[in-house]
Amino acid sequence: MSARSAIEPAAFAELVAIVGPRNMLTADDERATYERDWTGRFVGHTPAVVRPADTHEVAAVIDVCRRHGLALVPQGGNTGLVGGGVPLAGEVVLSLRRLATVDPVDVVARQVTVGAGVSIAAVQDAAAAAGLRYAVDFAARDTATVGGTVATNAGGIHVLRYGGTREQVMGVDAVLGSGHRVQRLQGLVKDNAGYHFASLLCGSEGTLGVITAARLRLVTRHEHRVVALVAFADVATAVEAVAAWRSILDSLEAAELFLADGLALVCDAFGLAAPFAERWAAYVLVEASAHHDPTDELAAAVAVADIGDVAVATDATRRAALWRYREDHTLAVNTLGPPHKFDVTVPLGRLAQFVDEVPQRVAATVPGARTWLFGHVGDGNVHVNVTGVAPEDDRVDEVVLTHVAEMGGSISAEHGIGTAKTRWLPLGRSADEIAAMRAIKRALDPDAVLNPNALLPPSV
Ligand SMILES: Cc1cc2nc3c(=O)[nH]c(=O)nc-3n(C[C@H](O)[C@H](O)[C@H](O)COP(=O)(O)OP(=O)(O)OC[C@H]3O[C@@H](n4cnc5c(N)ncnc54)[C@H](O)[C@@H]3O)c2cc1C
Repeated sequence: MSARSAIEPAAFAELVAIVGPRNMLTADDERATYERDWTGRFVGHTPAVVRPADTHEVAAVIDVCRRHGLALVPQGGNTGLVGGGVPLAGEVVLSLRRLATVDPVDVVARQVTVGAGVSIAAVQDAAAAAGLRYAVDFAARDTATVGGTVATNAGGIHVLRYGGTREQVMGVDAVLGSGHRVQRLQGLVKDNAGYHFASLLCGSEGTLGVITAARLRLVTRHEHRVVALVAFADVATAVEAVAAWRSILDSLEAAELFLADGLALVCDAFGLAAPFAERWAAYVLVEASAHHDPTDELAAAVAVADIGDVAVATDATRRAALWRYREDHTLAVNTLGPPHKFDVTVPLGRLAQFVDEVPQRVAATVPGARTWLFGHVGDGNVHVNVTGVAPEDDRVDEVVLTHVAEMGGSISAEHGIGTAKTRWLPLGRSADEIAAMRAIKRALDPDAVLNPNALLPPSV
């Protein structure tokens, strides 16, 4: 990794002049939470955390860093899971959390403009107050920011129905590493006047530009919502059932898979009662929402599948209780120590085989390692978490990611490449594609100021 860790006094003084001394955090206790990622696997060091208040301050900070040869790591809520938002090579942390404005919801356009530091929960609250919804949702909603979710093109539990973050972003305000500002927040649905910067910045992981605001599409808020937890004898049957439900259930909004071991871990970690008397191999949490009550159509769809058991919840408290079995997986796995996390997609037809084979390959590589699998089954997206392996031991990374590539999958479904997976990018991208990515990086961030160690493998 390239490291540029000290800030010379002249540059330091310029940064303080831009953001003010209170927003230049240098004390150990102030920096600590910005230096360590959510999992605890990635811990770095920064000479300072710089906290700009608006786009002009962001642009000024980037300008100082370019002139003084300082590298920056943009950081939002620091819930990223691939070591992309923490200063592992002594970079300055650029925290975007103070960019927290929420404009009034544009009900006519069904859109809202928000600052990069606004949490996903806050966007959802603003949309709900206007009778609408923000479609992106996942367990880190209270902390993950709009800027971070755009930078990682976050997916989540509603991709099945609404697509990922890229499908929700109508435009962005951003400062590129080159210093150029791109600002398209008009919310035009049709806008083919040249390159679409919002699409390019979506999933760029802070390597091309710093997103300071986004114009987001909102969707219809349905009055009726129902959740069912369905048990299956095996994963293949669960995958087939979800495929069938997608064809017959227009109201289908989420389909989340987890397995018997993961459910037991969640119940143990958080003192939850098991949902069924019997232990089943696979579980799918399915949610439907509509203007009419979708309970009957969901029940009819479930009935045609080869299921083991089912629990249905229509009221908010019971729905939340069922969701905990799925959403608490990430937290429960973390109680076992920093996991190795992989967030992969495989072709749906091979998902059951993958879920079957991965734990065996992991255990054969690092005896005693345990594999926890759960994910967004409708998208072919599985989160593979491995515990009992030292953070720096990357033998399981090699085994899992190679297996994904052999199966025709992607080594990152939603979390991105970060710093954790740069080495394996060639498993999913051709030499030509990586060269094209480097050319884009050089053009938009010519001084390699922005997140220089993330996404692209070191050039040889
Ligand atoms: C419990 C839990 C559940 C999760 N579930 C999901 C899930 O279902 N789907 C999913 O996709 N992810 C999930 N994640 C991962 C994570 O929440 C997402 O990657 C999220 O988008 C990160 O947002 P953040 O604000 O925390 O970004 P950070 O972690 O701060 O940063 C992530 C990346 O974005 C860059 N970045 C941050 N802000 C900006 C900005 N303003 N401009 C440019 N670059 C920026 C950083 O440099 C870094 O590379 C989960 C995480 C947790 C802890």
